[in-house]
Amino acid sequence: MLALKYFNKNYKMRNFANVILITLSTFMNAQNTPELFQNLPFGSIKPSGWLKAQMQKDVDGYLGNLDKSVPDLINDPIYGTGRLHKNSELKDLGNLKAGDAAGSDQYKWWNSETQSNWWDAYIRNVFLLNDAAGIKKVEMYIKQILATQDEDGYLGIYDKELRYNFNSENGELWAKATLYRGLLAYYEFTKDEKVFLAIKKAVENVMQNYPINASSPFSSGEKFNGGVSHGLTFTDVLDRMYFLTGDKKYVAYALFLYQDFSNTYQSEEDIQLKNILNPAYKLKSHGVHTFEHMRPLIVATYAAGNEEFKTALDIYLKRIEQVITISGGAIGDEWIAGRTADATHTGYEYCSLQELLDSYSLLLQKTGSAKYGDAIEKTFYNAAQGARDPIHSCIAYLKTDNSFEMMGTKNGEVEADRKQTRYKYSPAHQDVAVCCNPNAGRISPYFVQNSWMKENENTLVATLLLPNILETTIGDNKISIETETEYPYSNYFNFKIKLEKPALLTIKIRKPNWVKSIDTPENFVVDNEYIVIKREFKSIDYIRINLMSEVEIKKDNNKNTYFTYGPLIYAKPIDSEVIKGKTYLSNFSDFNYKPKAQVKYSAVNNASAVLVSGMIETKLKNEQTNNIEKVQLIPMGRTILRQVTFE
Ligand SMILES: [Zn+2]
Repeated sequence: MLALKYFNKNYKMRNFANVILITLSTFMNAQNTPELFQNLPFGSIKPSGWLKAQMQKDVDGYLGNLDKSVPDLINDPIYGTGRLHKNSELKDLGNLKAGDAAGSDQYKWWNSETQSNWWDAYIRNVFLLNDAAGIKKVEMYIKQILATQDEDGYLGIYDKELRYNFNSENGELWAKATLYRGLLAYYEFTKDEKVFLAIKKAVENVMQNYPINASSPFSSGEKFNGGVSHGLTFTDVLDRMYFLTGDKKYVAYALFLYQDFSNTYQSEEDIQLKNILNPAYKLKSHGVHTFEHMRPLIVATYAAGNEEFKTALDIYLKRIEQVITISGGAIGDEWIAGRTADATHTGYEYCSLQELLDSYSLLLQKTGSAKYGDAIEKTFYNAAQGARDPIHSCIAYLKTDNSFEMMGTKNGEVEADRKQTRYKYSPAHQDVAVCCNPNAGRISPYFVQNSWMKENENTLVATLLLPNILETTIGDNKISIETETEYPYSNYFNFKIKLEKPALLTIKIRKPNWVKSIDTPENFVVDNEYIVIKREFKSIDYIRINLMSEVEIKKDNNKNTYFTYGPLIYAKPIDSEVIKGKTYLSNFSDFNYKPKAQVKYSAVNNASAVLVSGMIETKLKNEQTNNIEKVQLIPMGRTILRQVTFE
C-alpha cells in the first residue's frame, strides 16, 4: 500500500565529468586515498527471485556441466602433476584456431584460465544457491588444489626451473590470479583459515620472487603476450588481500605491478600510462584486456594517491565510455582497433561484459559514485542478459545490440582473414575458446556480491538493485534484508528487514538515473543520487518503495532512435529459425539462428510510445513495404534476433 507520494525536488542532473571530478577530488588527496564504501565478504548477499532461478538453471545446465562437456580442459592437472616445464608442448584445446594466434605459447597456459575461471564461477554459484552436490564437489577440488602447493608457498603452473624466470609469453601471474580469486571466494564464504593461510603464503611467494621495485615481472620480450598482459589482474588478488587484512603492502605491490607494466615493452596495451597520457591515443587493444585493466589502474590510483594517476584514471574512464554500446556492450570482437561503439558493427565478447562489470564494481566501491551502479545494471540487464539464449542453456561468445542473424558471423559480414564462428549460442564454444562460458557463469555472482556495501558501521547501501537477501551485522546487531522485487521487470521494491534488536540505522538506496519520481511512505532525502532513509528500525520492519519511470525515446551516437523504460532497453524481436549445431553431451548443443525474413524498421517522427503489459507499443516504418506499423517492443534481454536502434 503506497498511501503517500513524495517527490524530492533535489534531483540534479550532473554531468559525468563533474561526478568523477567531485568524487575523485574529494577522496584523492593523500597516499592511500580513502575508499568511500566497503565490500562485504563473499556470501553475505545471496540471490533470490528470478535471478536465483536463472543461476540454478545455469548450474543445472551449461555451467555445472562444463567439466563434462570439455573434460580435457577442466581436468588438465596443470597446477599439479602436469605443471609446465621447458619441454612442454602446445596443447590441443580442440579449437579451430581460425585467424587467432595459432601455435602461440598461449596454448600452454590456457587451460589454467579455463579451469580456474570455471571453478571461480562454480564455487560462487553453488555456495550462493546452497547446492549440496556442488558444494561437495567444491570441497574435493579445494583439497586437491591445495595439495599441489609447494613447501615454499608456490601455487602455480610452472616447474622449479621455469617459474619466475621468463623473457617471453607466460601465464605465471594470470594462472594465479584466476585460481586465487576462486580460493578467496571459498575462504570468505567458509572462513576456513587453512585456505586463507595457503593463499597468503602463495602471495608471499610471488612477492619474494618478484621483489617490489627490484624486479620486472612484465618484461617479456617484444611480441604480443596475452598471458603476461592478463597477469596484471593479479591486482584483483592483492586488493582483496588488502580488504581482508588491512595490510597496505598488498596495494603497494599492486602499484608496483602497474608501474612495471607501464614501464616495460607491451604491444598495444591501452592501460600503459604513456598511452593514457597521450591525447591522440585511441583505445585499440584486445577488448578484454582494456576492460579488465581498469582494475589495476583503479587500485594503483588509490594506492598512489597522486595527481598524475588521478588524471590518468579520469582520461581512461572517458575513453571507456566511447567503446560501450547503449546496452553496456563493451567492444571485444576481439580488438577495439580505434573504433567507437556501434549498435550493428561492434560486437562484444561475454568475457568483456564480465570484466567491465567487475571493474565498474570496484570503482563503485572505492568512489561511492552512483553513476557506476547505473553502468553496471545497464550491462547486466541488457547486454549480458541479451547474450544468453532465453530457451537453451547456452550463451553467445560474441553479440551485437542489433542482432539480425546468429549464424557464426557478425550480421553476415565476411571477414577476410578468418572464418568467424563466434556469433552463435553454445554451452562451451570449444571451437573458438572456452573463455566466455566460465565468465558468463561468473557474472551473476559478482553482480550479486556488489549489490550491498557498507558506508560506515551504521549505514548500509543498496548499491545495485536486484532480488537478493543480505545477511550481515551492524555493530553487534545481526541484520538481514530481503529485497523482494521483480526488478528490472518491475520497479517496485519491498525491503524486508529483520534485526536482532531495534536500532537507529541509515539505509541508502541507489537512485538510478532514469527515476522520475519516488513513491514511498518513508521520509527520505536524496544525497549524491542515493535515497537516504534514517530512522529507528524495529526488529521486523520494511521499506516499500516504487521508483517511477517513463518510456523514453533516445538517440545513440549515430543519431539512431532507441526506446527505454527504467533500466531496460527494448527491442523489436525478429522471428527466427533455430538450427542445431555441435552436440557436447546428449543434452547440450550449439544453436544458430536464422531470420525468417530480412525486414528492417526505421523510426517514425513524433510517434508516441507507451508501456502496455511490460511491452512498449509504438509505431515504426517497415523498410520493405514502407508501411507504418504498430509494433510491440520487448526487453532486449529476452530476445535472440532483434533490432534495438532505428534510423
Ligand atoms: Zn571470451
